Amino acid sequence: MIPQPFNDISRKVLDGERITRAEALALLRRPEAEVDSWLDRMDEVRRKHHGKRVSFCSIVNAQAGGCSENCSFCAQSGHHKTDSPVYKLLPVEQVLKAAAEASGNGANRFGVVIASKGLAYEPEAYVEQVLEMIRAIKAQGRIVPDASLGILDERTILRLKEAGLEGLNHNIETSRRFFPSICTTHTFDERLETIRLAKKHGLFVCSGGIVGMGETDEDRVDLAFTLRDLDVDTSPLNFLIGVHGTPLALREALSPEKCLQITAVFRLVLPEIDLRVCGGRQQCVGDRQADLYRAGATSVLMGNYLTRPGTEPEEDLAMVAAQGLDVERFKPLLPR
Ligand code: SF4
Repeated sequence: MIPQPFNDISRKVLDGERITRAEALALLRRPEAEVDSWLDRMDEVRRKHHGKRVSFCSIVNAQAGGCSENCSFCAQSGHHKTDSPVYKLLPVEQVLKAAAEASGNGANRFGVVIASKGLAYEPEAYVEQVLEMIRAIKAQGRIVPDASLGILDERTILRLKEAGLEGLNHNIETSRRFFPSICTTHTFDERLETIRLAKKHGLFVCSGGIVGMGETDEDRVDLAFTLRDLDVDTSPLNFLIGVHGTPLALREALSPEKCLQITAVFRLVLPEIDLRVCGGRQQCVGDRQADLYRAGATSVLMGNYLTRPGTEPEEDLAMVAAQGLDVERFKPLLPR
């Protein structure tokens, strides 16, 4: 028996209609435990748009720590005292090795990530080094070159595209209302502008956020609908793990059921795009990770996170195989 109002709202999505903010909020306000009775229907919703296809992406932390920004969830902010690694830009060879490993493990997209306010604020020599990494991954031809480079201006976006960048990750993190509670060194609008520029120039835009930072269910709904309005191409969903030394260190982790419920609501708001569960998957969802796919996820971040180890690739591959899902592999565009 599928409970109301979930039955009616999820049926709308199966019928090709869009759900409203009020409906999304009503679902997030249902008891967390109810989510178990949503999973069969959510599996149907996911399969309607994505069939049995799932995909994995992977990242390299190409420059770690010491960031000028004060994002309160982030272990890499120079404003917080954490035990995260701090290092300058990795050599291109090391990034290429990580890209080849990610491809070998089954990931089809690979993101070069830097801890920085944005590449637009970095000196020319630094920008050139990052461009070189993108060119090298593109030339290697084994995985889609993506990046997460903070705030970008139009010229830098064009240069990245020219170098071969295909996808840009730039998370909006949370709602406009809650954003000033988690970061005061740049604005929500600066983040939106980078996303708009990336869309304007045809990059595949990956943008999402973090839940569990003290935001309300309304903020979560606003996050999902802002992503829908921005027409992002894929969305990462992160569950906060309070990092020791950050202002959010003591925040209690969301329960596995709340994580599944939020995943389901994001899927219903954004039915067509790849919904990627990233940070906090292991710690918050625990032994219910396989249910993330049944709640609507179509992708997870494979391998290590920016500052934490992740799941072994074999475990992730076994998890999706056990559910009868097929992993989308990279289709080379260039001769090897
Ligand atoms: S801008 Fe990025 S790297 Fe810097 S503190 Fe914020 S989230 Fe962390």
